[in-house]
Amino acid sequence: MIRATIWGENVHEKESDIVAEIYPNGMHNCIADAVRGDGIEATAVTMDQPEHGLTEARLAETDVLVWWGHKAHGEVDDRVVERVSEAVWSGMGAIFLHSAHFSKPFKRLMGTPCNLSWREAGERERLWLTSRNHPIAAGLPDSFELEYEEMYGEPFGIPEPQETVFISWFQGGEVFRSGVTYKRGAGNVFYFRPGHETYPTYHDANVQTVIRNAVRWAYNPAARIAQPTHAPNVPVGNALEPLEERGPKLHKSGEEGYR
Ligand code: ZN
Repeated sequence: MIRATIWGENVHEKESDIVAEIYPNGMHNCIADAVRGDGIEATAVTMDQPEHGLTEARLAETDVLVWWGHKAHGEVDDRVVERVSEAVWSGMGAIFLHSAHFSKPFKRLMGTPCNLSWREAGERERLWLTSRNHPIAAGLPDSFELEYEEMYGEPFGIPEPQETVFISWFQGGEVFRSGVTYKRGAGNVFYFRPGHETYPTYHDANVQTVIRNAVRWAYNPAARIAQPTHAPNVPVGNALEPLEERGPKLHKSGEEGYR
């Protein structure tokens, strides 16, 4: 069983009648309902819970974390951001949706500005597969459309992706790398563009298929790596081949130096 945790900022749903009408149980629960089943166990947590719902214990029991945030990126505690990043480096999968391109954990994992151009005009988005036999594209047609979406345009300030699975075309003429994969430490990371809060995007069957496929793809069955940021100084006596120390040095053999 793959354990997915859907993290929802849950601010627009409470502040906007438009969003609450489309997602009466919150976007996070809509996404959880969409990915649950067929070997995936999905539960939602929200930002207003203690430690934003992402305690050490919760992350230890999460195989894949799905993140939707927008309005309150700046209110996410940096300690939780570091905890999420370390969980990814140790092997947890992570999926960032739509405006999560500007979330603290995504930016931390990418190390780049992750900026883009945008327009809110309710225009048509057409997503094209660029990698037909990629597991995230399983069961999808070569292209599919979302009648109402926000536009995100290139240049997108991300590192060169490991794989590009989708590109989007918008009615206004822009294009965008809308489905991209990364490996960060031992963790698989996927960014998927659609999902503006005032449109019913997460009710769309193709979008749901992508997220469900992505949860399976991001799942890493190997045991988590303990201390993924630890950099040990290997004592000379532990070298695999006999070795004599020589030359000047600032650190003694085996002494802990850098973290
Ligand atoms: Zn948006």
